[in-house]
Amino acid sequence: MAEPVALDPGSYRGTYKLIGGTPALDFANLVSYRGTDRQHDWLDPEGNAATWADAAGVVAFVGDIAELREFREVLARVFLDLVDRATPASSDVSRIGELAAGARGDRRLVLEAGATAATWTARAPTLLTEVALDAASVLTDAEALRRLSACQECRWLFMDTSRNRRRQWCDPADCGNRARQRRHYERSVAR
Ligand SMILES: [Zn+2]
Repeated sequence: MAEPVALDPGSYRGTYKLIGGTPALDFANLVSYRGTDRQHDWLDPEGNAATWADAAGVVAFVGDIAELREFREVLARVFLDLVDRATPASSDVSRIGELAAGARGDRRLVLEAGATAATWTARAPTLLTEVALDAASVLTDAEALRRLSACQECRWLFMDTSRNRRRQWCDPADCGNRARQRRHYERSVAR
């Protein structure tokens, strides 16, 4: 039962929560009810991007919002295809790879005196490249892909880290509750 992130909802009656388990999925989830008449774009207003990055723990410049929106839909297509056991478009996978490889190439390996391990430090991390790096690490991790799943109600993406991989909802308090109420209503009407 995650706490809502303080994004400006405009006139939308709903909340945004970090339920994905990793930034790339939470970033793809910056659209609620994608493809339905309830669809809402959480990058509107644009100031929400910086609030999201803060909440998701991504340290980066926000950059161009139009480009972020376009990339968000690339991620959603790829990950939802994988959830549906379909093969994502190779152009979409390549786009993630290009951005991630560019971000890697721009990094310096730094080993501070007394540090226990070296770290890759970015010169100018942008939200676009940081999210792309995370998406690439998900795509190259077979165990992560095995756990990739989507809410049965709203199709938000998440890593199902439950032991038997039986998580059904983004949040049982939201979509789980809605689905239970609907089933209860349908049963009472059927009687
Ligand atoms: Zn949901």
